[in-house]
Amino acid sequence: MDAVILNESKSCIKCGYDLKGLNTSGNCPECGTPVERSLRGDLLRFADDQYRDALFRGVTFIMAGIVVSLVLMIIGLLAGALMGRSPGIMLVINCLGLVGTALGLYGYYHYSTPDPGQLGSNKGESPRRILRVAIWVSAVCSVVAIPLQFAFGASANANSGAPNEAALAAGLLSLLVGLASTVAWIVQFFAAMLYTKWLAPRFPSERILKRASLLMWLGPVLFVFGCGIGGLIALIMYYNMFSWMRKALIAIRAGEDHSDDVALST
Ligand SMILES: [Zn+2]
Repeated sequence: MDAVILNESKSCIKCGYDLKGLNTSGNCPECGTPVERSLRGDLLRFADDQYRDALFRGVTFIMAGIVVSLVLMIIGLLAGALMGRSPGIMLVINCLGLVGTALGLYGYYHYSTPDPGQLGSNKGESPRRILRVAIWVSAVCSVVAIPLQFAFGASANANSGAPNEAALAAGLLSLLVGLASTVAWIVQFFAAMLYTKWLAPRFPSERILKRASLLMWLGPVLFVFGCGIGGLIALIMYYNMFSWMRKALIAIRAGEDHSDDVALST
């Protein structure tokens, strides 16, 4: 393109610096990225490598978190059936469950990395910020819940069933932490879906957009009324959506055309 002076606000894709007033043939004064690279549009193909890598890490760990959580849930159910639901066993199972939770939260954290080239008043920014807050609340709740459960179990055991004040306090706190955690997960889900809806046209992918829109309402319905199996179906649909993103990101990185809308199978 002909070199001209940029007369409107445009963020540098690498550092977010406002390039207004600069020559389009020049470089960003903050990070040295060619101005021309920041003018190519919103597609992820043209986004900064570090941002795309963060997205890739994010979806990969979200998927790993889902798989690990499912495996641990099955192990937990088996252990509970074989060895009884004693507080000790439940504590071990819940501690193991933290691994899946931690993988997922690490994934969502990277998935919600700010894109320096998309800062400002875009539609993805609010859900992205809300997602980040919900991730922190979830993380704190998950960590705090374990010692609370331990305290509750220990004091309940010491009194052989007769509740004392310490056990009641620990029980009440566990309940509150559980409630906060549940709210955080719900907020996290909707924020993640809204953010995905914003991200989908940047791949660009029609099926990711449609899946995120579908899960916005179908996900909660299946979880609440699905008698367990519905929740599992929703989880698989959710997992597939992230696997599509992962495939598309790999294709973008390799410089391939990822016409995912042709192959609608998983
Ligand atoms: Zn820059």
